[in-house]
Amino acid sequence: MLMELEQVLHMNGGDGDNSYAKNSSQQKEAILKAKPLLQQTMREFYCNSFPDCIRFADMGCSSGPNAFLPTWETIEALHKTCHSLNCKPPLLHVFLNDLPGNDFNTIFKALPGFYDRLKKGDDQNDLLSCFIAAVPGSFYGRLFPPHFLHFVFSSYSLHWLSQVPEGLISEKGVPVNRGNIYPTITSPPSVHKAYLDQFEKDFTKFLTLRSEELITGGRMILTLRGNQSKDESFNNYRPIFLELIGSALHEMVLEGVVEESKLDTFNMPMYAPSLEEVRNVIQREGSYNINLLETFQLSWDAGSSNGENSLEGKYARGKQVAMKLRPVVESILVSHFGNAILDDLFQRFSIRVADCIEKGLGVHTNVIISLTKK
Ligand code: SAH
Repeated sequence: MLMELEQVLHMNGGDGDNSYAKNSSQQKEAILKAKPLLQQTMREFYCNSFPDCIRFADMGCSSGPNAFLPTWETIEALHKTCHSLNCKPPLLHVFLNDLPGNDFNTIFKALPGFYDRLKKGDDQNDLLSCFIAAVPGSFYGRLFPPHFLHFVFSSYSLHWLSQVPEGLISEKGVPVNRGNIYPTITSPPSVHKAYLDQFEKDFTKFLTLRSEELITGGRMILTLRGNQSKDESFNNYRPIFLELIGSALHEMVLEGVVEESKLDTFNMPMYAPSLEEVRNVIQREGSYNINLLETFQLSWDAGSSNGENSLEGKYARGKQVAMKLRPVVESILVSHFGNAILDDLFQRFSIRVADCIEKGLGVHTNVIISLTKK
């Protein structure tokens, strides 16, 4: 299944209307939220040992403008630090990682423009040399030599599991998460457990593999989708967007547009953990000190170019949000349900999104983590 998922999962490539590049403004907001932490951590790291070269990896970079954003933020931080200290900036060696099916070509085509912009910013004549390389492969496997990396960054990627959790089909061969594609309030406890088990297994593996690749004192900044509904202090249930796609698919089953068995046998390989679930894994894995572990909220339409008041109406807004999620989940949905139902599905999904936004539920939680390798 691991190989299968790797072959199927990719954000929509290119730069067309349905591409990730054109629809990643919400993910951009998450990178911008992490910017002060990334820059402060990079400053601290550099000023600790003044390395000649910093090896920086972005895990799950995708393609489009966001693939370069963490690198720009790093360059800016190092440039400012070195300027104020009046020292020569280090070399920055950047490794952009994603699954082999990622549209790396769009990144490669944007590289000359990136280097041009970098040169233009060289007003102080102390140009920071930056070399960018691509590293295709799953971050649930080893990607770098031991004690190689100084800094690992990842935004909005670690909620993707390595596979659909096991145990979602009973011993008698009956699907346990019938009518859903993600653990919801109506799913049996075994479904929640299967998802949490898979997340714990995957996230532990990610931490251990990176701990082998990072130097002692190396830093890691991670942001992933989270779930606040499980916190005891939080009694306002908010659906995860996958639950709304599940409910739209369920409606299509009831209308005979989608076969019931198709829906019953599909589960999304994605999990949004609670803060405590994340903390437990990091502590149990044991290779890192936690510098910061927090949640922050972003509204579903964060980063939309239209201001809140300029949107024509509730459904236009729902549609806009739904279309931004389409390039993220389309490849997985098409691999199971085929292409034909997609427009209909996203139309139904957008109505649910609009209703949630209207009820004030259109907010999602993110977990942000800063770690130091022991
Ligand atoms: N960091 C980017 C992209 C987020 S989309 C941004 O913030 O905009 C999530 C990305 O993670 C996708 O491009 C997906 O292909 C990648 N991804 C998911 N599982 C992965 C894995 N096991 N190994 C490497 N990349 C993975």
